[in-house]
Amino acid sequence: MQYDAIVIGAGFAGLYALHRLRDEMGLSVRAFDGAGGVGGTWWYNRYPGARVDAPSAPFYGYTFSKELVDEWEWTETQSASADVLAYVDHVADRFDLRKDIQFDTRVTDARWDEATQRWSIETAHGDEASARFLICATGALFVANKPHYPGIDDFAGPVYHTGRWPHEPVSFEGKRVGVIGTGSSGVQAIPEIAKTAEHVTVFQRTAQYALPARNRPLTAEQLQEYRDNWADLRDSMYRRGGWPFPTTRLKAWDHTPEERQARYEEMWAEGGLHLAINSYVGVLADEELNAEVGDFVRAKIGQIVDDPETARKLTPDYLFGTKRLILDNGYFETYNRSNVSLVDLRDDPITAFTATSVQTEHGEHPIDMLVLATGFDAVSGSMLQLNPQGRGGVRLGEKWAARFDTYLGMAIAGFPNLFMIHGPQSPGVLYTMPLGGERHMAWIDACIRHLDENDMGTVEATEEAEAAWDQEVNDLANRTLYPRTNSWYTGANIPGKPRQFLAHTMGSRYFDRIEEIAADGFRGFVFERSSSSIPG
Ligand code: NAP
Repeated sequence: MQYDAIVIGAGFAGLYALHRLRDEMGLSVRAFDGAGGVGGTWWYNRYPGARVDAPSAPFYGYTFSKELVDEWEWTETQSASADVLAYVDHVADRFDLRKDIQFDTRVTDARWDEATQRWSIETAHGDEASARFLICATGALFVANKPHYPGIDDFAGPVYHTGRWPHEPVSFEGKRVGVIGTGSSGVQAIPEIAKTAEHVTVFQRTAQYALPARNRPLTAEQLQEYRDNWADLRDSMYRRGGWPFPTTRLKAWDHTPEERQARYEEMWAEGGLHLAINSYVGVLADEELNAEVGDFVRAKIGQIVDDPETARKLTPDYLFGTKRLILDNGYFETYNRSNVSLVDLRDDPITAFTATSVQTEHGEHPIDMLVLATGFDAVSGSMLQLNPQGRGGVRLGEKWAARFDTYLGMAIAGFPNLFMIHGPQSPGVLYTMPLGGERHMAWIDACIRHLDENDMGTVEATEEAEAAWDQEVNDLANRTLYPRTNSWYTGANIPGKPRQFLAHTMGSRYFDRIEEIAADGFRGFVFERSSSSIPG
């Protein structure tokens, strides 16, 4: 089958891409997703406790349709995964998107054909299709990272990865559960699992900063207020890195130490990300301020956790907020339960698995079930899994062997007419993702129109533009403390992955910049005449 555009992925970004390309641009479009339904990351991440950990409702949602904002009844400030899934299901129905999505169909190959100026794809079922444009909404957190401990495959009990959670309920009743990983997923899941499990043993490699989420019911009045002020809030999200509310301009060093502590207390009580982004300007850039905020959180952990030795193990020692900040719903309190124990892998590393236990250097931990909350080959992983073949037969895996070069995080030299949404070197998870996906798609819309208005067949980033972009993204990252910590932002969580800061740190500036580049005739791109208009 031939289409104008093929969209890979039916998560937030892919659904909007389909809607925009088909309903606003009038193109013929086919979307594919390996999942059995819409939702992308949310379709797979149904582990207990999964919820949005940002001011979600109605901000973690689409902004393109005011009707959608007006009609959807969010019930909590930080929506649970089931509510997010219900919302995307509603969106798929409301905009009649399902008829153009092929579910349970993983795209296994994509190849650029220079003569026809088209992408050809193949699916796991052997379907073939081609299109002028390939829109890769393949997900920043898709490829599950599984640890390779000796004997892990010999473990006889069920093994669940948080990023591939089964759709049928999992009961922990009477079970001894081992959990490896204490990132956002582990921190959300552990308190829920501990409520019913006989025992939970948490295997922690890095102690984490987690801030109280303070999720609350969203009142009808609040929701109405958001709807009434929607234009301002949306505008604020545009200007403030995806954040809907005013952010602080307070400078820490204008305040006394006592005033600063009072401010931190206030932000801690407010919950969510307020301590990090609203206490003072520059918490993630000023090392001295960062250390003070880190000390504040470390002290809180010591106050919450009863056992001093457990509290010590749970106390992080890296720069505050330089791994993805975690919001918790009773995470540290969970360690005060008698059915929860903590193994610090830095003191006592895992040596092997048996059929019934995890063995560490200093002991054996019998378990009936294993939960891997070990994260993802983030940002670049899903594109490398697709591994498209560009100009001259070059595979993306070859091009990205040492560095994830992109232009604007959306385009790749050698891969004409391919657009990534939330690709490496775009803001991705550092911005509100549904809005970021919309803004990427608006840019792609303008780019395709530009091609058509100028009778061009292809658009392609230049290598020079990629090199300059790489420099720009790195320079911005280096103004922050992020690159100084090993995290999935830097690729350090995957053995052998090239080290590179994977995100553009300034979302609003990023979107201004890509719009300015578009207005300047898509600077940094080269265009080729449409093959059908070239005589002979
Ligand atoms: P993650 O942040 O990468 O955390 C993975 C955890 O597993 C870390 O504690 C890591 O330790 C540990 N780990 C990895 N490999 C290990 C190994 N071989 N042995 C022992 N421990 C190992 O992954 P995640 O928690 O799934 O979260 C990923 C991202 O998804 C988040 O940062 C966030 O952006 C997003 N997320 C969002 C939400 C939400 O919005 N509600 C919820 C969940 C996730 P180290 O720290 O030492 O590497």
